[in-house]
Amino acid sequence: MTTAIQVIEGREAFRAALDHARAQKRKVALVPTMGALHRGHLALMEEARRRVGETGLVAASIFVNPTQFGQNEDLDRYPRDLENDLAKCREVGVDLVFAPTVSEMYPEGAATRVRVSKLSETLCGEHRPVHFEGVATIVAKLFGLAGPCVAVFGKKDYQQLRLIERMAKDLNLPVEVVGHPTIRESDGLALSSRNAYLSVDERARALAIPRALDAAHRAFQEGERQAREIVETVRRMVEPASDSIDYISLADTESLEVFEESAILGERALLALAIRLGETRLIDSLVLGEDEPPRNPAQK
Ligand code: AMP
Repeated sequence: MTTAIQVIEGREAFRAALDHARAQKRKVALVPTMGALHRGHLALMEEARRRVGETGLVAASIFVNPTQFGQNEDLDRYPRDLENDLAKCREVGVDLVFAPTVSEMYPEGAATRVRVSKLSETLCGEHRPVHFEGVATIVAKLFGLAGPCVAVFGKKDYQQLRLIERMAKDLNLPVEVVGHPTIRESDGLALSSRNAYLSVDERARALAIPRALDAAHRAFQEGERQAREIVETVRRMVEPASDSIDYISLADTESLEVFEESAILGERALLALAIRLGETRLIDSLVLGEDEPPRNPAQK
């Protein structure tokens, strides 16, 4: 489908466009992204369309949010290609793209930060101290501008999804937060804008991640409930392939509290990991007892 797409840079124009749509009784959906769009992002936009129907308004935002990057992280080299992104948004029928500048989202004097305690402190939060405060802050700002809508986020960033649900609820923001399953390459690697950084060798080594998640899924299906055994299964497969491991953890799917190694799992558990390949940090996760295994069954 190819349609006209509206590109907006200003906060007030963005707010006005969404208010206008609602005044015409159109449902509104929002898909926040940092651009460098891939099929994972596009799947969220398609889900957004399903939620609001043909007459609804689907808005995407494209903004590389500086406050969620740590000092030594990849803010400067993060891929940016607005023209290409707009073409992709057009292809999936997005009606409106909000692409603000940094000073539009953080005008001079801006001093407020949103911190979601506990949920921002485990898993990735231990390794990226400012990250989730930046995420919660920018998403709160976007939700504040967007007003009543449904917002679609990927389960690829499971911790982020849980944190945003909490934040929207705690701040009484009129946004229904929806999670969408992770979209993967046919060999199982989760799509990520950061995959573009990987060398051929690193891309090959990255496959250890879906293979390990697959093995954990299989073990869980076969009745393994000892946290230690599942984490060790994953570690044995991922360690030789990676340059370093930030964490491999099993956690409660709601509170994200990490289980002790001696824990016996219940019916569901979040398996989450972050590893480094060269300069690139990759994350992935699977809800054991709920999610499909990562690899295309046809390839097994
Ligand atoms: P990002 O541009 O990386 O900030 O991601 C924007 C949104 O796309 C977030 O809600 C992510 O969770 C989601 N996303 C990123 N990669 C994937 C993927 N492979 N499958 C599904 N959603 C994704």
